[in-house]
Amino acid sequence: MTLNASDRDDTVDPGVDFYRFANGGWLDANPIPADFGAWGAFEEVHTRNEALLHDLLLHAAERPANDLDRKLGDYFTSGMDTDAIERAGISAIQPTLDAIGAVATHQDVFDLLPQLHDSGFGELFMWGVTVDHDDSTSNLLWLVPTGLGLPDRDAYFDGSEAATALRAGYVDHVAAQLENVGTPSGEASALAPDVLAFEARLAEQHFRAEERRDLGRTLNRHDLEALRALAPELDLPAYLVAVGAGEVTTVNVQNPAYLAALHGIVLDTELPTLRAHLAFHVVRSMADALPAAIDGEAFAFYGRRVEGMQEQKDRYKRVVAALGEDMGEALGQRFVDETFPPEAKDRAVRMVEEIVAEMRHSLESVAWMSDDTRAQALAKLATLRVKIGYPDTWRDWSELTIGRESFAANRLNAARFELDRQLAKLAVPVDPNDWEMPPHAVNAYFHPTRNEIVFPAGILQPPMFDAEADDAVNYGGIGTVIAHEITHGFDDQGRRFDANGAFRDWWSEDDQQHFTALADRLVAQFDEYVVVDDVHVNGRLTLGENIADLGGVALAGRAHARVSADAPPIDGLSPAQRFFLANATLWRANTSEELKRTLAQVDPHSPREIRVVGPFSNSDAFQEAFGLADDAPMMRPREERIEIW
Ligand SMILES: [Zn+2]
Repeated sequence: MTLNASDRDDTVDPGVDFYRFANGGWLDANPIPADFGAWGAFEEVHTRNEALLHDLLLHAAERPANDLDRKLGDYFTSGMDTDAIERAGISAIQPTLDAIGAVATHQDVFDLLPQLHDSGFGELFMWGVTVDHDDSTSNLLWLVPTGLGLPDRDAYFDGSEAATALRAGYVDHVAAQLENVGTPSGEASALAPDVLAFEARLAEQHFRAEERRDLGRTLNRHDLEALRALAPELDLPAYLVAVGAGEVTTVNVQNPAYLAALHGIVLDTELPTLRAHLAFHVVRSMADALPAAIDGEAFAFYGRRVEGMQEQKDRYKRVVAALGEDMGEALGQRFVDETFPPEAKDRAVRMVEEIVAEMRHSLESVAWMSDDTRAQALAKLATLRVKIGYPDTWRDWSELTIGRESFAANRLNAARFELDRQLAKLAVPVDPNDWEMPPHAVNAYFHPTRNEIVFPAGILQPPMFDAEADDAVNYGGIGTVIAHEITHGFDDQGRRFDANGAFRDWWSEDDQQHFTALADRLVAQFDEYVVVDDVHVNGRLTLGENIADLGGVALAGRAHARVSADAPPIDGLSPAQRFFLANATLWRANTSEELKRTLAQVDPHSPREIRVVGPFSNSDAFQEAFGLADDAPMMRPREERIEIW
């Protein structure tokens, strides 16, 4: 893996449009495939990983090596058997639809929720389990609002032409799916607008995407008494008993106002609307395991209208994706056997060490931090745990029932199996070995309450990482991702957790003010960027990721400069130039307008082009590497540049 001259566009001045200069050739040669909403480096790696998993699954289906292999092969076979799926019709969800159809009073709606939630249908709200933000050795149950079929809250209220058209499309879609499960046509068309109106009332109570990042809003510990008082009519303590969490004594309510308002909104809504809403969301969550009429209708709305895809993906790709959701770690276990040798892990570990050292240096030297906060920040960095490739021990899947007969039954069984696994966590201490992403994921994360950074084998692949490539390519690629994740521990959210992962204020007043002032300038910078037409980047929603991108490029760049001090130019490009080009390569992508609009509402990351332009415009090292003038359009004026780490 190296940098290709043909991927660049040498007719463009790097000081005017570096993204185009670095990627123009590639962008022109790689239009979006019809079954994607965007196509870039991440999709390339994902597709390569997917082909590998497909081979593994075909093999597992024919000659399973063990019982886990047998389950993977059977699951895959059931998902590919579209004849069986057609024959089964909606039989897998019929009992659930019947139970919804039997709802005769408003109280019945609430009484039915535990049964729906037990089957994995997260109607109106749902529970989940994560590490306790006050005590990182134990787990805590959260109650979280759901109930929206459009991408996010704002999609219900946005007055733009595109959003209005999307809502009209949603009404048609809801009607079509209700009809697909037996509602007479006229009735379905009459109910669908009411379903939209009901969801809009739920949406009013939902947090905006940027508010969900605000820990001051989302961390709301309630003991059982407070939980009962929050929404007396819902009797949430009884709900906890009904879903199997009767032993808990406190829970976190992500959005108290939503639960407090829910009973009133439901009471205010006609029963046929409520039944239609509940039924639609059952169909929605199972569409890919149901007959083609339902599956195709789901694609026509969510694939085409929401994600901007032109064509449905090949069946095998969708079954691999479903398997990734349902049995991700089992699938990933086979993946790493094939793709992630110990040498690759060693090199990745060394890069992490170099970049942690750079972060340590930054924490020791940044001028805006006081000594007391600095000491605690260094202690937090010292206890940061790093996970690379795959878990040290693998999950036990022996209790999960999987067969070849019914894809829908497999999906429902897997959902129930996962819910049981989550419930079991409530009774035992936090397992430090737990992973929240499967090993084949092309992704990475920082976990604030575990104080750990995690890099699955799936992202440790070319062009992000190549054990054979030179340092510039690896530091500009996965190195910036590693540094990005490290800085999340100290971004606007992560900094509020201490070395033990506890939510605690350990910053001095002054340091908080300095940090917030820097962060506010970054919000203002990113608010200016246009995504499409009148849609701008939401600088507040993307703040944590923008801080991480800015720090990621700065820290990985300095670590690279240190390790590559004696490295020769390659193809006439200095090591520093290659570092920045490699980083721009990471974010190359063509993206459909529909997906751009959807992501602008829900994605806490900036659009990929901005993930290059935004950080680079603040980077003296970038300016120097390409010999750009101070007033080059790519650069922010010197006095306005923002440096955090
Ligand atoms: Zn991030």
